[in-house]
Amino acid sequence: MTAANPASSRPAINKPAYAMFTISTALLLTVFPWYLFNYDVSASAWVAGVALLYACGLSITGGYHRLWAHRAYQAHWSLKAFYLLFGAMAFQNSVLVWASTHRIHHANVDDVDHDPYSINRGLWYAHIGWMLRDYPSARTDYSNARDLLDDRLVMFQHNYCLPLALFMNIGFPLLLGWAMGDVTGYLMVAGLLRLVVNHHVTFLINSLAHYWGRRPYTIENTARDNDLLAFLTYGEGYHNYHHLFQWDYRNGVRWWQYDPTKWLIASLSWVGITRELRRVPEFRIQRAMLQRQFDQVRERLTGCNNEGRVAVLQQRFEHELETFKATVNAWSHLQSQRIEAARDKLADQWQHSDMRQQLLVLEDRLREQRQRMQPLHWQTA
Ligand SMILES: [Zn+2]
Ligand SMILES: [Zn+2]
Repeated sequence: MTAANPASSRPAINKPAYAMFTISTALLLTVFPWYLFNYDVSASAWVAGVALLYACGLSITGGYHRLWAHRAYQAHWSLKAFYLLFGAMAFQNSVLVWASTHRIHHANVDDVDHDPYSINRGLWYAHIGWMLRDYPSARTDYSNARDLLDDRLVMFQHNYCLPLALFMNIGFPLLLGWAMGDVTGYLMVAGLLRLVVNHHVTFLINSLAHYWGRRPYTIENTARDNDLLAFLTYGEGYHNYHHLFQWDYRNGVRWWQYDPTKWLIASLSWVGITRELRRVPEFRIQRAMLQRQFDQVRERLTGCNNEGRVAVLQQRFEHELETFKATVNAWSHLQSQRIEAARDKLADQWQHSDMRQQLLVLEDRLREQRQRMQPLHWQTA
């Protein structure tokens, strides 16, 4: 009897993904420096490279992630079309596959067997390793993304994802370069360099944002808040907040936190391109932070020797925590009572309002008119 070979149970190599990452990385490490050393790249190619980096990056964070994976707001079809085009250029599969896989990540975060990019399988695996092997359930079962299956724009991108991605990564920089008189420079900077940076910036969210940083809102999972990562990832580095309040269109919830994705979504709402922006009420955010601080104090007290003074402090702390919870609950109850009272008042005002009376009169008149018209109608028929 031979022992089972663990390697045989591993999923097969995902050849297209393997080829894409290998070729793009190899070209960036060899041809790109050789080209920079021997030729000049025009300034406009660098500008286009940065502009496209942001267009693609924001299409992933604002579109793939916050719009489609989390439904944190609604968007006009023109913005959706932009996201779909430049999201394809970021070469991270279709919205359908991306969002479905991401929803599995949120539902099973840190689970070694069910989180598709669980950090508990190591940094390399969470960053890129998970894509190098086939992950069948995430690519064929879209039962957690039925809303996306019904979206015609999303399904168009899914069905034509590869040609769209190839055109946007090769054809588009080529056309831009041809128009600006620097074809190879555009292919090198706006095509190749931009693509590899786009990839690793997004992958940092799955790896480092679950590994390095602070946890001000929850320790239920490994997600972290990290200002440097937020700067690199268009605001997605506030991942601890995001994992607790995933349907909020903001990740950097404070006004001073660097979250250009949030700024984009909010500013587009002023001109009606985005709407129904979802926010977590401030008191729930504060409650989560306070609860976390109480938990930290409790941990520290538990770590001390259980001498008389520590025991007294611990008792006092538990009392304060209970008082705090009771106050928050009473406040929440009061808020809901206020909302109910306001609703009742509105209903009452409506019952006795002039407009309602006028509507009732109009309704009566209309009924009378109809009754008068009926015989006339019968005679002419
Ligand atoms: Zn995560
Ligand atoms: Zn998410």
